[in-house]
Amino acid sequence: MKITGEMLIGASAVRGTGAALRAFDPARNTELEPAFGGGGAEEVARACELAEAAFDPYRFAPLETRAQFLEAIADNILALGDTLIERAQAESALPKARLEGERARTIGQLKLFASLVREGRWLAATLDSAQPDRKPLPRPDLRLQKIPVGPVAVFGASNFPLAFSVAGGDTASAFAAGCPVVVKSHPAHLGTSELVGRAIQKAVAESGLPEGVFSLVVGAGNAIGEALVAHPAIRSVGFTGSRRGGLALVGIAAQRPEPIPVFAEMSSVNPLFALPGALAARSDTLAAAYIESVTLGVGQFCTNPGLVIALDGPHLDEFIDAAAHALEKKGAQTMLTAGIAAAYADGVKARDAAGAARLATGAQNDAACSALPALYQTSAEAFLASPQLADEIFGPTSLIVVCGDEDEMLNVARHLEGQLTATLHLESDDLPLARRLLPVLERKVGRILANGFPTGVEVSYAMVHGGPYPATSDSRATSVGAMAIERFLRPVCYQDLPAALLPQALSDDNPLNLWRLRDGELGPN
Ligand code: NAP
Repeated sequence: MKITGEMLIGASAVRGTGAALRAFDPARNTELEPAFGGGGAEEVARACELAEAAFDPYRFAPLETRAQFLEAIADNILALGDTLIERAQAESALPKARLEGERARTIGQLKLFASLVREGRWLAATLDSAQPDRKPLPRPDLRLQKIPVGPVAVFGASNFPLAFSVAGGDTASAFAAGCPVVVKSHPAHLGTSELVGRAIQKAVAESGLPEGVFSLVVGAGNAIGEALVAHPAIRSVGFTGSRRGGLALVGIAAQRPEPIPVFAEMSSVNPLFALPGALAARSDTLAAAYIESVTLGVGQFCTNPGLVIALDGPHLDEFIDAAAHALEKKGAQTMLTAGIAAAYADGVKARDAAGAARLATGAQNDAACSALPALYQTSAEAFLASPQLADEIFGPTSLIVVCGDEDEMLNVARHLEGQLTATLHLESDDLPLARRLLPVLERKVGRILANGFPTGVEVSYAMVHGGPYPATSDSRATSVGAMAIERFLRPVCYQDLPAALLPQALSDDNPLNLWRLRDGELGPN
């Protein structure tokens, strides 16, 4: 399939007449063909109006059609073959194997949501029978189901050009909920976005759905994204990226005449608590695995372990030595964009200036737009006194915080901002300390791991990829896993509606064969 540089507005391909944009190959330090015509408020309005017109036909289409639509997207993405992988590689400098894995994850995610749609538990169908003889007042017949919120705007992330972008988790979960989607193409992977967008556009047509179910807009600068979030047809926003970008969209959404929710996944340093028993048992292997996780994918993961918190002592010294040696062997590597590489360089400079001791630096080479790994150490006292030491640096760096005793470790834990994850490395003799930490960490994070590393987020029913601010703008949600669908649903209660008007999911004979909560009992009733 050829990349044309056009926007996809419903069933049409439209060349924007605004400032042109080009994708960039960070490894070769060169611009890529073709030029993309930038769109503006006019194209955003057209995409949003089409999405609004498509909303009712799409949400009322049979659930089986919706599920097959998600599967058709998966098939069409796979059919793009190497064209997609090669373009994503050129635009992101990510290795082929990583991108193939990411494609498999994207497809798996779409299929997970297809099976979720069929199963129907997300409808939360609930029936409370009327009690006409109840005293002192009769109870009405009450029935509840969840309905989609309306058209959703999606902003993908630079670091997952497939799994967190045009057909990523936000789009898949919004489609599964019954919401049309307008995606704002990420400037770092314009060609990849167009290819995947065309795969979705084709699936819309193949599934016989209204064209406005999906659009992809492209534009230079922030203006197009701002116009999208401000458009009255948009009812919710999914975003992954920087704290600054996420907060800008939260602000625009809150200032609309009719404010809407923004589910922004933003920044996290993912503390890893290396408890004394674990350090005594395996400081060397733990250090090696830690440095692998810090430098994996040039550290460009929102779940990168940017902080280790441990108690002072000889086993921590062994861990620090082993980690420093392992990191020195890691070379500089090309980052996703020149801007992200520059932000990383500024971040480590600021960490040097904040007084953290640099323990080790990776091996310099001539890779373009690259990041040089760096490992730091500081005391708990300094960490507690310097808020900037807790800031996320997106890239292959991490800070080891040395605590004098358990109480100081707990103080550091209490002092942390909201996070996507926290990790405990522990042995059985660490359980009493872990028990003290757990209630603190539960209040701070969306996922708590033991004896693992947070990089690598499973797409499943129990996954939570979320957490309190600033990890996200809404700690009640996840952007990965089946529960992500909840962000784009809202409950409606139907009181005493005649049977002829009831939605299928709530009719007495249960024609969709759903599991329902009927008079307090859950079952296929
Ligand atoms: P970003 O700069 O926040 O951009 C994400 C998307 O939002 C892009 O499409 C961007 O497009 C748009 N956007 C950003 N600011 C906007 C604004 N004020 N108004 C309207 N739209 C806006 O994130 P990124 O490019 O993916 O990476 C940059 C930094 O984000 C990294 O250095 C890292 O710190 C962080 N990051 C975090 C995660 C995470 O998972 N938490 C993932 C990736 C990156 P335009 O710029 O074209 O408007």
